[in-house]
Amino acid sequence: MIEAAALSEFFEGRRIGEGKYLSLCPLCSSKSETLYLTDGRKGTLIYCHSGCDKEDVLAEVGLKLQDLFSNSHTFVKPPYDPAEDLHRVDIIRSFIKEKKEKGEPILYSDVVFANQVKARLKSHNCWKPLNV
Ligand SMILES: [Zn+2]
Repeated sequence: MIEAAALSEFFEGRRIGEGKYLSLCPLCSSKSETLYLTDGRKGTLIYCHSGCDKEDVLAEVGLKLQDLFSNSHTFVKPPYDPAEDLHRVDIIRSFIKEKKEKGEPILYSDVVFANQVKARLKSHNCWKPLNV
């Protein structure tokens, strides 16, 4: 389950009261804040004043309605931060360079890990090729 405070981070909202947050709705073209995020008894409530479908609003940030309820066991990931993966890329590159210089073999597991990091960065449009 994801509480209103955490949910608000997905929408870059602001706190307006105890367990209450307000933010721009990702689906509304309106410049005013219409999205209400509130802690409820069994889960977190999400409501757009302009009448957007809450499942569509959640889908914009990669969440499902069930993520908001306490009976769900869904693990909710925080917004992706590429900094760690970009740091891993630096480490992997210098590691591979070092192995090549020493003439040591590069292990299959190293390649798999490197490709996982690369795929994750690519899927978030954060991948930076070498020598650019
Ligand atoms: Zn809306």
